Amino acid sequence: MALRYTQRLLQTQVPFLTRGYPLLVTKEKGEDVAHTKSALQKKWTGVDIPSAQYGGRHAVTMLPGGGIGPELMHYIREIFRFVGAPVDFEVIEIDPSTEGNDDLDYAITSIKRNGVAIKGNIETKSQGLDEVSRNVAIRNELDLYVNVLHCRSYPGIPSRHKNIDVVLIRQNTDGEYAMLEHESVRGVVESMKVVTVENAERVARYAFEYARQNNRKKVTTIHKANIMKLSDGLFLEVAKNVHKEYPEIEHNNMIIDNTCMQLVSNPHQFDVMNMTNLYGTIVSNVICGLIGGAGLLSGANYGDHFAVFEPGTRNTGTAIAGKNIANPVAMINASADMLNHLGHKEHARVIYEATYETVVNDGIRTPDLGGTASSTDVVENILKILARKRVNWPQGQYRD
Ligand code: ATP
Repeated sequence: MALRYTQRLLQTQVPFLTRGYPLLVTKEKGEDVAHTKSALQKKWTGVDIPSAQYGGRHAVTMLPGGGIGPELMHYIREIFRFVGAPVDFEVIEIDPSTEGNDDLDYAITSIKRNGVAIKGNIETKSQGLDEVSRNVAIRNELDLYVNVLHCRSYPGIPSRHKNIDVVLIRQNTDGEYAMLEHESVRGVVESMKVVTVENAERVARYAFEYARQNNRKKVTTIHKANIMKLSDGLFLEVAKNVHKEYPEIEHNNMIIDNTCMQLVSNPHQFDVMNMTNLYGTIVSNVICGLIGGAGLLSGANYGDHFAVFEPGTRNTGTAIAGKNIANPVAMINASADMLNHLGHKEHARVIYEATYETVVNDGIRTPDLGGTASSTDVVENILKILARKRVNWPQGQYRD
């Protein structure tokens, strides 16, 4: 499996591995390429989504994954049923202990067919070289080149800082996740970090376009170009070039180690952050930790044609599975992000609001947030709030 999925990665990336690239090589690509400006605008105006079928309903692939994934997906289905969200789930279990890739292939085919998925984290059981992460394989196969995390503080949740509001834009398919490692001679292992102009530019353009569309003021590119002069140097250089098209937005850059320190001491200096894959996972975990842990924030993975929604920190939570203590909020937020993406904005809004009200106003919180509520207490409270808001739903309209 490892060979097949890494080969495919290289096929798409090798032409871009050299330095001295032509400026903004991907800018003039075809109309269907979402990182061109017009296509990104289409995405944010909600045009570039799979069309609904069968009476306005969308089919969505659901990958529960391992650990707490299946119980969280059960809550999502319950909430969607309750609010009448026009979504039919195609549930695909991926068992990491089975031989071969049939389940993974089937999941990828399903997402290609439906265009959209919601997922938990799929465990990688073996440390063997043949075994690649199925999470990474899905992102690579679907070319989900950007991961977006909107990190906002929840009032009242104990945390070191208040009012954090940072958007993290992470390159999601190459960098240190190329899964290209080998032992060159006995006792010497090499791991390839791949940075390509194409992907660095797509993610930088996404970050600047996001800033422009959402009235954000600054993009900070995170790197380690003082040490990784070619790879991170290229990532930074591409970001600086893309910035020239967005003169109204400030652009600065920061080294990853300093970024972690600055995040802990003064996170308010950040607005939109643009970074490679490994720095993205580190920074997202730091920010989620600052805001309240793994159970709150959602993350979205976008490519030109597909979108996959999941909890922001991508944890499996095996140790807390089946105990009714996992915080369901991150997965519920991910499901509302997905409804938003599909254009079901009213359904998304009521779910966001009921979840926020439960955690912030009603103080119904699981132990990871310092509360004593169970996962089902949280979900039941959300359903109770949703019931109050259902008054005018028979007409398909939500009114508060
Ligand atoms: P394991 O999957 O065996 O727990 P781990 O220690 O690597 O492995 P992760 O799954 O990476 O744990 O999760 C990191 C931490 O975040 C763990 O302490 C986990 O219990 C916690 N965590 C993850 N998701 C949630 C959640 N939804 N609610 C509460 N805690 C969570």
